[in-house]
Amino acid sequence: MDEKEVAGGVVTRYSASISTNGSSTDEENKILRETIGHMREELEKFRRPPLLVCEVSEIMNKNAVIKVPNGNNFYVEISNNLSNLKVGDTVLVEQKNLTILKKIPGTKLFNVDKFVIVESPKVAWGEIGGLEAQIEEIKEVIELPLKKPELFKKVGIQPPKGILLYGEPGTGKTLLAKAVAASTKSTFIEIVGSELVQKFIGEGAKLVKEIFQLAREKAPSIIYIDELDALAAKRIDLGTSGEREVQRTFMQLLAEIDGFKHLGMVKVIGCTNRIDILDPAILRPGRLDRLIKVPLPDAEGRKMICKIHSKNMSLEKFDMDPLIHQMENFSGAEIKAVCTEAGYYAIRDSRSIINEKDFLAAIDKIKKSNAEDTDFAGMFG
Ligand code: ATP
Repeated sequence: MDEKEVAGGVVTRYSASISTNGSSTDEENKILRETIGHMREELEKFRRPPLLVCEVSEIMNKNAVIKVPNGNNFYVEISNNLSNLKVGDTVLVEQKNLTILKKIPGTKLFNVDKFVIVESPKVAWGEIGGLEAQIEEIKEVIELPLKKPELFKKVGIQPPKGILLYGEPGTGKTLLAKAVAASTKSTFIEIVGSELVQKFIGEGAKLVKEIFQLAREKAPSIIYIDELDALAAKRIDLGTSGEREVQRTFMQLLAEIDGFKHLGMVKVIGCTNRIDILDPAILRPGRLDRLIKVPLPDAEGRKMICKIHSKNMSLEKFDMDPLIHQMENFSGAEIKAVCTEAGYYAIRDSRSIINEKDFLAAIDKIKKSNAEDTDFAGMFG
């Protein structure tokens, strides 16, 4: 007797040795019957039609609403031997009468790392100018718990699961989040609220679920949600299906934040320029309950940011202070733009050394483009 691989299963092949002894004939008969049984099973497998992979959207007693792969929803029966079925589970469903047969581990609808930015940033704290107080706070509430979770356990306090950075555009919020990811050697997963609700219509909630799954797999990690307001704005009217979809995505985000432990190695950093319109639900204790304002830089901050962004430039010797004064109300991003523009003025003039005039012209240019932006915004009022 020898064995052969047939259709994925091992089937015993009966060798033609003829036996004279009665008991060994019985034995051989038994083996033959088993072999035939195996083959029948295999044949049966091939006859069965394939099953649909669906997602459970709602449960009602012995019935459920499932979403089939083409996006349609069906109200179907749940087979008796299935208990503990939850909304969001992935299930196998018979094609003919759409009965739910079996729960399977969640399939990935997205290859999530293709849709979000996943990186290990290299930003050092020293590359951030003028935000000392904010850096201190972030070190305390994000960096320390990720670096020394045992300290928090010993003292018996729970660090925040996440923080909210808010303030004007270009003030260094993303930079802060990347710096804390770098200092804790965390995976940095960046998602943009507006993209989540516009690009992945109908799938936002599932994507959120998968992003948190990815974050747990790659922990320690930081989930950075830019433009959180696009996802988490107060909603008065849930009339349109688009609004309901955003609400579902937002609810999934809250459920994910509520679902992980305080001392887990995943932290969420939300970021917004519109804290005034945020739904307070996201700021409740146990969620993003530490709010950190990231303001426009003061004179000292502007000087530092200017130094950071001009450190590799060849500058003529001149007094920076009057220029710093001229850049009042500039954000960090605008100060960086001034440095780059000043460099371009020198290049246009065929010089490799940048002088005060280049900086003055650059400041002027940025001010003008800001004024144009304001006028443009005003037109749409
Ligand atoms: P937004 O709200 O538009 O997302 P943001 O606050 O996240 O903006 P960043 O993306 O961090 O702003 O800043 C844009 C760029 O401006 C940074 O990559 C950095 O080069 C520069 N910058 C902004 N703030 C600072 C700062 N405080 N120190 C040094 N560079 C800064």
